[in-house]
Amino acid sequence: MQVPDVPNACVRCGTPYGLTRQPLLVRRGGGRIRYVDVPFCPRCWRLHESTRSVFFVAAGVATASLVIGLAVSVISQDWVPAAASVVFATATVFVARAIRRRALPVVRYERGSDPVVVIPTVGEVRIVTGGE
Ligand SMILES: [Zn+2]
Repeated sequence: MQVPDVPNACVRCGTPYGLTRQPLLVRRGGGRIRYVDVPFCPRCWRLHESTRSVFFVAAGVATASLVIGLAVSVISQDWVPAAASVVFATATVFVARAIRRRALPVVRYERGSDPVVVIPTVGEVRIVTGGE
């Protein structure tokens, strides 16, 4: 695996201080997913790590609320609890997505080429994922 040619700046906030190389999941041109090592500052990496399970938790909460809402609807013969649980589950997943997005660097994908990371202080940097 090639080391991607990325500048000395955190891929999320652009700071040049305290950087460590961390694996970031990106999609290659061919649609395959792989890890590349990119610089993260400690603050951004901590945020990245702390939100790693946010989808998993949100999916669990959403599923539970749907089951409960449906059960209450069946028992009470009222459609309102089911509708409310659907709204709640959707909102939970939506919020989880927003949180996760904020913790990830801005990555742009172009058809058939390597992904481009948009770093605040540097600009657009193409991540060379290496050939196979
Ligand atoms: Zn950072």
